[in-house]
Amino acid sequence: MQFRRACRSLSWDLMHAWGLTRRAALSLAALLAGGAAVEARSRFAPWAESGFGSAEARQLTERDLYPKGRPSLPFSLDATVAFDQRTPWTQARAIRQLRKTAAIFEACGVALRDVTLVRLALPPEDRRIDTGLTDPVTGVPPTVARLAARLPAGAAYPAAFLIGRVAGSASLAVSYRPRLEAETTAPYFNTAWIAYQSHWLPRRDERYSPLAHELAHLLCRCGHTETAQRHLLHSARNFLSSGVLPDDCKRIQDSPLLYVNN
Ligand SMILES: [Zn+2]
Repeated sequence: MQFRRACRSLSWDLMHAWGLTRRAALSLAALLAGGAAVEARSRFAPWAESGFGSAEARQLTERDLYPKGRPSLPFSLDATVAFDQRTPWTQARAIRQLRKTAAIFEACGVALRDVTLVRLALPPEDRRIDTGLTDPVTGVPPTVARLAARLPAGAAYPAAFLIGRVAGSASLAVSYRPRLEAETTAPYFNTAWIAYQSHWLPRRDERYSPLAHELAHLLCRCGHTETAQRHLLHSARNFLSSGVLPDDCKRIQDSPLLYVNN
């Protein structure tokens, strides 16, 4: 909220500086207010049977995800996205990540369908994932295993957590996918954990999204590829972009997490 307020006052300052007409100023104000509509429309309800205590959830609308309408595509994806309201993540920022993700996956023929947005208030000890401290058997940080186990039984996967910090070998975001077909039962599989820092980090490609990057790992069941061109799953941070390699698209389309539309 504070960020939006800052934006708005900045725009007003600019308008005064540039001597814009009142009519132009009003339409710009209406445009800025459009961003606030996301907040106004939100109706979070208690997230039944989750182990998160005060968690609240809402089903995102088509307009939340696709302001210009959902495209008709061969594959659909349902997902759960939870943000910790005690971090700078907000509903509007989560939706911005989801819109970018929708646009990126559209190139692979995948449309976001039912997305549950969850607002959580994690205790301080759970706001940070340390990828350096992992369970010796599973290779998963205990915090990840503990939080994922609180997802309700009916939660859609992949499930992404927008949290305060990721520390250790991965410093911005991390995801956990089954390495073997048999390993699909643990609640932490097909989860992604994204630090707030990954959101505001300046990028060469404004359309890039760390949420799309982590979800792509989970869907393609693949890691990074080093190529001469920039793309979504590049191994070098400076080479990350919104473009998806054709091979990665094919692997994404083979994901058991997707629904095939007739
Ligand atoms: Zn990655």
